Amino acid sequence: MTTSNAIPSVKLLINGEFVESRTSQWRDVVNPATQEVLARVPFATTEEMNAAVASAKEAFKTWRKTPIGARARIFLKYQQLIRENMKELAAILTAEQGKTLPDAEGDIFRGLEVVEHAANIGTLQMGELANNVAGGVDTYTLLQPLGVCAGITPFNFPAMIPLWMFPMAIATGNTFILKPSEQDPMVTMRLVELALEAGVPPGVLNVIHGGADAVNLLCDHPDIKAVSFVGSTKVGTHVYNRATLNGKRAQCMMGAKNHAIVLPDANKQQTLNNLAGAAFGAAGQRCMALSVVILVGEAQAWLPELVEKAKSLKIGAGVEPGADVGPVISCAALDRVSSLIATGEREGARLVLDGRNPEVSGYAQGNFVGPTIFDGVTAEMSIYREEVFGPVLCVMHAATMNEAIALINANPNGNGTALFTRSGAAARHFQEEIDVGQVGINVPIPVPVPLFSFTGSRASKLGDLGPYGKQVVQFYTQTKTVTQRWFDEDEVGGAVNTTITLK
Ligand code: NAD
Repeated sequence: MTTSNAIPSVKLLINGEFVESRTSQWRDVVNPATQEVLARVPFATTEEMNAAVASAKEAFKTWRKTPIGARARIFLKYQQLIRENMKELAAILTAEQGKTLPDAEGDIFRGLEVVEHAANIGTLQMGELANNVAGGVDTYTLLQPLGVCAGITPFNFPAMIPLWMFPMAIATGNTFILKPSEQDPMVTMRLVELALEAGVPPGVLNVIHGGADAVNLLCDHPDIKAVSFVGSTKVGTHVYNRATLNGKRAQCMMGAKNHAIVLPDANKQQTLNNLAGAAFGAAGQRCMALSVVILVGEAQAWLPELVEKAKSLKIGAGVEPGADVGPVISCAALDRVSSLIATGEREGARLVLDGRNPEVSGYAQGNFVGPTIFDGVTAEMSIYREEVFGPVLCVMHAATMNEAIALINANPNGNGTALFTRSGAAARHFQEEIDVGQVGINVPIPVPVPLFSFTGSRASKLGDLGPYGKQVVQFYTQTKTVTQRWFDEDEVGGAVNTTITLK
């Protein structure tokens, strides 16, 4: 925490105004490649957070009735502004988060796709109608916005995940309170500025900053109707329980341990390239990062070549051309990853590639850890049980695909998985039997495009409906069914009967 005034402060957004917090609690936003303090972020006061909710509640009165075409056009303009500002957004993201510039653009682009989807809200938010459900009677549904909704986001995708949330919530007619990660809120704030420039009216989108207290307030506040969370399983479970006990809708997308199965008939070079990119890209800090590979049968002999691929990746600051693996987000994250590697060795896994303490020219202070590979990992080891969230790959072995599937299904998490094979029959068996939300067939990081919804099994997700896609329209709306009959002018003296007779 710091109270220094020498560095820029991240603002709150309340009722259309970017305001300085009056809090005495601040945290530094730090460049993970250099330790330079980029800004300080406030932990908003209760009064400020309540003001944000009050402004969203007031704005909802008019926003909910704003024509659907007017809402859609804001997101048409917004997607254009994001495209025009892509380079600036990526530079901010890389500076505060550490990922490489191409990865930063990817982070923004995957969010941009959801904005494009929000621009289609006209067709997405249509109800259903059944004509003549009884004589002269029609039934139809209205998908109406809920009111004030809230979103809480993690550090690893500071552009994509806020964009998973507020565009669809607002497009469906809700107003929104966003609580970005306190570790890298700057690119999120730039995206929020662009949303206002695109025409999001005052009070419709508000931003508060903080940690556990802010999150708890959002879960408890009686004027908030729904909470969307993305982050670790521990915090997400707390958010889900607290919000739903308070009668709110909640969707929580949480932690992961993503496995790939490699069958010996797979295309070898393509598979090894995919494995290396998915395990070590973005420094392993993707919720869909590949953290376990299970080599089946003769594919077990491919390990030395996988190690060579991993060694060929370039470790470097995200701004450096050609860098493949940037720093992890913080010194604390680096300590955690390093300590889990040490535990892996102690528990008997074979460290075939040790990425600790790499030399990164010009960035001696950065939180770097290079690609790391353990072989002979068992399901009991900490390195397997815990989500490392760093560039560490566990290699396991199986005699058959069914043995590998059983191992994956026994893991508490079910976020993403992939199978590498040339066999259609094996792929079909895998998709039928595997209990994981995102399934890739020769696709290592199968994050669905926004025509579909992100999902998850077991400890990776709580709540029935996922973010974006069709499901999120249901999440952010209340379905009303209207059953309607009109009497003809000359129809008089009907029976005293309030029910509709079905014939
Ligand atoms: P995190 O859980 O530490 O933080 C997420 C949010 O919760 C932040 O806004 C943070 O301020 C808040 N928070 C932190 N501690 C809290 C507490 N004690 N009480 C209430 N709120 C608290 O997660 P992170 O480290 O920022 O992100 C990494 C995690 O997110 C990983 O576990 C990753 O798998 C997960 N993730 C999941 C998905 C998915 O779609 N399943 C996507 C991205 C990230």
